[in-house]
Amino acid sequence: MRPVTLSSYRLRACCAARGASLALALTFAAGSGGAQERTAAASGEVERVVVAMGTSLQLRVSASDRATALRASEAAVRTIERTEQRLSTWRRDSELSRWHASPIGSGFAASAALCEDLRRADRWRVETAGAFDPAIGALVDAYDLRGAGRWPTPAALVDARRRCGMSHVTIATRSLRRDAAVRLDAGAFGKGAALDAGAAAALAAGAETALLDFGGQQLLAGAAASRSLDVADPRDRARPALRLRIDGGSAATTGNSERGRRRDGRLLGHVIDPRTGALAEDFGSVTVLAARAFDADCLSTACFVLGPAGAVALAEQLEGVEALALVVDGDTGALSVRFSSGLRGRVTPLSPGLQLP
Ligand code: AMP
Ligand code: MG
Repeated sequence: MRPVTLSSYRLRACCAARGASLALALTFAAGSGGAQERTAAASGEVERVVVAMGTSLQLRVSASDRATALRASEAAVRTIERTEQRLSTWRRDSELSRWHASPIGSGFAASAALCEDLRRADRWRVETAGAFDPAIGALVDAYDLRGAGRWPTPAALVDARRRCGMSHVTIATRSLRRDAAVRLDAGAFGKGAALDAGAAAALAAGAETALLDFGGQQLLAGAAASRSLDVADPRDRARPALRLRIDGGSAATTGNSERGRRRDGRLLGHVIDPRTGALAEDFGSVTVLAARAFDADCLSTACFVLGPAGAVALAEQLEGVEALALVVDGDTGALSVRFSSGLRGRVTPLSPGLQLP
């Protein structure tokens, strides 16, 4: 393990694995002016990369000593594994998959944690007026988003839409029921749930700071003061478009630049508008900041569906939530940016020619 300094480090997102989205590069500072430079030897720093939730997760944990940092990072990894065991739709033995395999209309004895995940996800469906809806498994299949991708026939779309929507799902304290062949897709909230749970476990095990990074989504929890986050250019994710100065909490980016595929000459994205069954229009990318990773994850997907103006309007309505949209002009290829008012003074353009509004 490579020792790093706590006061300043730079983290490159791991995007090679399936499921990672836009690249973000992250730097955080433990304090300003006169902050003591604490090295691995003094403070206990652990950096790990693990495969989780179908992608690559980078963890950096700092604690008063190395043994505590190791224990805390281990607690985070174990907790994230439990989240995956609950929410993965890739794994047939996950709790969510077992529910999907159970008979329609019957009560399924579910963990309190799964019920709580689904309740929170459903709250974001309500808050986003349906732009986010986790009960879209049938549409994900209709577009074959987990496979090679395809454009569904109109009849297949009608059929899939009949099997979508949280209105078919009843969530009780410890049980779940669905009244149609509805399947949930944790693609837009599972990583967020894992980040929150992992960071909480690391702090409970004695970590001072935990930075957990799935590539398109990060969470910084604990004592760190501020960080800067480079948001990738949606035209070329290897290049940063701008730098954001943010405090602790989570940042999630949704965009198609990595996963977008062409089918029959048209871009087949990975975000669906649950209100229509169509794919969300590809305008570039959106980054959402929120205290909790779960919320940032759900909202970045919703904001992509809502488009740049809708994304900023939604963030303005929500306490503690900011949104930034990078928009690629379909004709000229020029990049522009718009963001919610809380980000004023926190954005530095890096891409040549990118103007702040
Ligand atoms: P993200 O990359 O976090 O925006 O999540 C995108 C993933 O969430 C997709 O690959 C689908 O699995 C799922 N998804 C797509 N559209 C939606 C939506 N409107 N609401 C909820 N989940 C979605
Ligand atoms: Mg998301």
